[in-house]
Amino acid sequence: MPDATVDFSARAANVFFHVLTRCNLRCRYCYINPAAHGRRRLPVERIERWLAVLAERSPGANLVLLGGEPTLHPDLPRTVRAARRLGYASVTIDTNGYLFHDILEALSPGEVDTFSFSLDGAAPETNDRLRGKGSWAACLKGIRKARARGFEASLIFTVSAANAVELDALGPLLEDLGVRRLFLQVLGLRGRAAAAAPGREPGLRLSPEQWRARIPVAAAAIAARGIRVLAPPVFLEPGEPFVCAGRTADNYFVFPNGRVYRCPLGEDYPVHSLAFRRDRLEERPPLNERDLFALDIPEGCVMNRLVQPDTLRYTPEGKPAYRVGCCLIKEEILPPGGRGEAGAPWSR
Ligand code: SF4
Repeated sequence: MPDATVDFSARAANVFFHVLTRCNLRCRYCYINPAAHGRRRLPVERIERWLAVLAERSPGANLVLLGGEPTLHPDLPRTVRAARRLGYASVTIDTNGYLFHDILEALSPGEVDTFSFSLDGAAPETNDRLRGKGSWAACLKGIRKARARGFEASLIFTVSAANAVELDALGPLLEDLGVRRLFLQVLGLRGRAAAAAPGREPGLRLSPEQWRARIPVAAAAIAARGIRVLAPPVFLEPGEPFVCAGRTADNYFVFPNGRVYRCPLGEDYPVHSLAFRRDRLEERPPLNERDLFALDIPEGCVMNRLVQPDTLRYTPEGKPAYRVGCCLIKEEILPPGGRGEAGAPWSR
């Protein structure tokens, strides 16, 4: 098994700001839940006020702008410039690659650190079955265009039983595209995936055995090409320490309806610990996610235990067969004998 040595930085603050929830695609396991997150496009004046509140609370945070598809927001360039003025350490735009409103022309590489593209298959038919017809070609076109304009591009690949085998082909594709960083995500049972879970999406999530047998080796092979690969620890080995980022890190998952979560796993439920009310960020009374982070349970991640219990296994004695790690902690997967950089950045 390859080394996985870079832990998250407990001091870094990260703001994941959903500027709208609308999207042009209907991905099979989209985590957006309109009942919980609203259907609004946040006016840019409000975005600016909320960004200012968060910048004052956590100076020098990294900002990730997302949606829905954030480039559908006509005021995204103004949002990026506001973030720069407010002193955010980095600005990333997560996109499906359609890049609406000529966003690559409206912004310069000096204003955006990275465009992070979502692609869930090395082959078009695999990706398009999951994300929608034509989305593979659009994403690749977007990546090439962004690279040609001088922007940094990273890739977010949500690993599932439908695409895990394609990790072998992903390395050469990323090399060809000039993408130097890859985030591997675990398929979360939230939003549309949760609604579909009881029968319609059986087997899409990898079992611990499948994950361990396949993903670290495939990821290390990609890393051997000089591509930085970041993935959550997912299933902890015996003796491996468990850390809940909800206790130690400074993350904000902001939605247009004012809900602000510290952990994304609870986003289908009103367990957010913070909320914007009339442009003030207010702590919410117990019980909320913060009370859950404080619990020590043998299964590891308490939120996973609550919202995705079917991901757990137990021994005949009733003990957890493994602990589930924090989905927010990104570790760098290195090629055998490789060395990683410190301070891995975050992605959703
Ligand atoms: S994913 Fe689990 S371990 Fe990580 S912050 Fe959420 S509750 Fe804590």
